[in-house]
Amino acid sequence: MQQPQQGDYIDIHVHDGHPAKGIFILESLMAHEEKLPADIPGVAYTYGIHPWFLNEDNHDKHILSVEEIVRLPFIIAVGEAGFDRLRGPSAELQRRTFEEQVLISEEVKKPVIIHCVRGWDELLSVHKRLRPKMPWLVHGFRGNIELAGQLLSKGLYLSLWYEFVLRPESAGLLRALPADRIFLETDGADVDIRNIYNKVANDLNMAIDQLKKIIFKNFNTFFGIE
Ligand SMILES: [Zn+2]
Repeated sequence: MQQPQQGDYIDIHVHDGHPAKGIFILESLMAHEEKLPADIPGVAYTYGIHPWFLNEDNHDKHILSVEEIVRLPFIIAVGEAGFDRLRGPSAELQRRTFEEQVLISEEVKKPVIIHCVRGWDELLSVHKRLRPKMPWLVHGFRGNIELAGQLLSKGLYLSLWYEFVLRPESAGLLRALPADRIFLETDGADVDIRNIYNKVANDLNMAIDQLKKIIFKNFNTFFGIE
């Protein structure tokens, strides 16, 4: 398993990422892309069915490939998986497919990376019903403090949406969140994770090295690395 080194910037959610010195990336492979992980230093992978690219016809095939591929050692989490009320198939198919991926996550003992747009009730109800032992991380989070509090109270981790984090007004939310439950990401957009760390360290009134230490520790906790 590829793991970040102490001192690395960790970009917890990337698409089509390229490794760079001092930056560890978690690349999100989506089942419909039919891309496989590779053994590249500084890169770990997640694998799952993104709700945008799910439909009744490809569901069975994609679930079978998730079942199989998430067992590979380069894959450290299941996902991104979840709910999107603005795009994708019926709520019923999204829920069923998400639950199936949660059960796979529990079986292979790898956490879940979540994509969720306006599907918070669904997400929380699945969490309540299935009581997962593996931790969940919501990527691209851009909600308010009340929603964050609800998710945190269930033990979830939050990775903040890069565009939101870079705005001055995100400082308040950043300061209100428990530092031991946050991650940062570029989502594969044309932004530099180092700038995101810089902004957040400033908002939290800490040195970049301290923020790196916190997120490195979060990574190890989330992925159960001793
Ligand atoms: Zn993504």
